Amino acid sequence: MKGSFVRLFGRNCLVCNEPSDDVLCPDCKAILDAECFDSYMVRCPKCFFPMVSYDYDCPRCHTKEGKSCTNTSVVPIYAIADYNSNLSYSLLHRFKFFGDKKMAKVAAMYMQRAVDALDPKGDAYIVPVPCSRRSLKERGWDQMVQVCRYMDRPMLRILENTNEGLSQQKLLDRTQRMEEGREKRFSMASAYEGMDEGYENRPVVLVDDVTTTFSTIQAAAGCLAGMGFKDVKAAVWLYDYKA
Ligand SMILES: [Zn+2]
Ligand SMILES: [Zn+2]
Repeated sequence: MKGSFVRLFGRNCLVCNEPSDDVLCPDCKAILDAECFDSYMVRCPKCFFPMVSYDYDCPRCHTKEGKSCTNTSVVPIYAIADYNSNLSYSLLHRFKFFGDKKMAKVAAMYMQRAVDALDPKGDAYIVPVPCSRRSLKERGWDQMVQVCRYMDRPMLRILENTNEGLSQQKLLDRTQRMEEGREKRFSMASAYEGMDEGYENRPVVLVDDVTTTFSTIQAAAGCLAGMGFKDVKAAVWLYDYKA
C-alpha cells in the first residue's frame, strides 16, 4: 500500500486501475488510441466510413474522393474503433454485461472525437440511442444516456425505444447480444410530444456504443427525420468491420 495516503487525492486509470494522473494511464490510452480507425485508416469524406485507401469508392455510400454523393439516405456515421479490437471490446463488454458504469466515461472520451468531427461548429444536440425496455428494467440505467452525460454537447432524450427487447439468453449470437435486438422500434419520447420548440432546426448526432450493420442507427435516424430533423449524423464507439 505504498503511497496510499498520497493516492487519496490522486486518481486511478479507469481501465487498469493503476495510479494515473489522468482518467486513462499513458499505457491504456496508447492501446486504445492505436485501436481507433483514425490511427490506421482513412475515411470517406461524405459518410465517414473507414477505408483502407482512397484508391476505391466508399463501400458504404459509393462516393469517390472529391465527388459529391447522391445517395442522401446514407446517414453519416463516425465509428471510432473496430469491434474486434482487444481492449476496446473488453471495455464494451465490461460496460454492457458487467454493468461497469465507469466505462461510460471512457466511451464518452472517444465518442467526443466523433462528435467534434461531425459537428465542428459545436451546435448539435446529442441524442442517445435508447436501450430496450427490458435492459432498462434489468440494469436500472440507460447506457447511452450515461455516456452522453460525459460529453460536451447538450443531450436531447427525444427518442424512446418501444421494443420490449429479448432476454439475453435468447440472443445467442455474440453481436446480436451486443445490439440487444433493439432494431427499428423508435418513437418520439412522450415528454416531447406536442412540444413546438424548434429542436429540429438544429443538427443532431445520435450516440450509440456498438453497431454491426448500422440498421439500428438508420432506424433511429429515420425516426428523427420523421420528426422533422434535417441534419442527422451518428457517432458510434465500436463498429464490427468484419461483419
Ligand atoms: Zn491503465
Ligand atoms: Zn461513404
